[in-house]
Amino acid sequence: MTKHTTKSAHVLKHQCKDGSGGNQDLGIRQGSQGTGEGCQGTSLGTGHGNLGISQGSLGTCQDGSGSSQSGSRFSQSGIIDLYNKISKLYPEAHSELLEPFRGNPVDVLVATILSQATNDTLSKRAFSELKAQFHDWESVLVEDPCNVEAALACGGLQRQKTKKIRSALSKLKQDFGDITLGPLFDWPKQKSMEYLTSLPGVGPKTAACVLAFGLGKPAFPVDTHILRIARRLGLAGKKQNASSVQNMFENLVPDEIKMPFHIMLIHHGREMCSSRKPKCMSCPLKETCCHAQEAGTLPNEPIEAR
Ligand code: SF4
Repeated sequence: MTKHTTKSAHVLKHQCKDGSGGNQDLGIRQGSQGTGEGCQGTSLGTGHGNLGISQGSLGTCQDGSGSSQSGSRFSQSGIIDLYNKISKLYPEAHSELLEPFRGNPVDVLVATILSQATNDTLSKRAFSELKAQFHDWESVLVEDPCNVEAALACGGLQRQKTKKIRSALSKLKQDFGDITLGPLFDWPKQKSMEYLTSLPGVGPKTAACVLAFGLGKPAFPVDTHILRIARRLGLAGKKQNASSVQNMFENLVPDEIKMPFHIMLIHHGREMCSSRKPKCMSCPLKETCCHAQEAGTLPNEPIEAR
């Protein structure tokens, strides 16, 4: 969904809400976006970054089901431990695709719809073409849709995306008298999420992108990279869908790290935990990863809970 690069930062601290992890190093960077399978786990209590899962309470990797209230085999402190490890790998991650639209929720909405089922380069090109050929969102709505399709042709799926974008913009105008999402800045997060997912062509991931990047509300969009990593780590079940995994992350990830963790996991999916050839030997998460254990990357012993 997004291509990410880096920027400078400093480390903050976090007190775990579940009380199991103490005052842990969250590795949150100032200036950052702000923003399993096949093994039986046990809690080994190594002393650093305690996952907060007592022995016998860690869910199995085989079905990804866990014993925590979130349904994941990880608790919140376990998530924070993952975050601290991965933040050392991508300490200054940010989103190239959506960062330019921070605070502009309609732009984020359109850019995210354009990013569906294509890569960042093509979706950015399509967005630029759209902006170059139409003065404002009102023009996109009133002009011949064939012209919008022509502008979006470089990104692919132009017919479907034109329909989605125009339908969403039309709904905004109908609801707010203008093409704006401005009122949502003052709405509670849940109300905003419900409204956004009621828009044509907007699912949970796109809505969460608008919340996080456009409206500055804590949200954790789950794309294909994050879904794959969550399943491999055993955070989620093999067949758990993206919407359910997004809910899990929403509940487990502290608000202050939702944005950077989301971005770093996408980095990780692109650079290390790729679909075809994950580089498990180099991965800082391998000792708590079900996939690494199953693939024989690690000694055939129960995965440690740290
Ligand atoms: S250990 Fe391998 S499968 Fe697990 S998160 Fe890292 S790269 Fe992905």
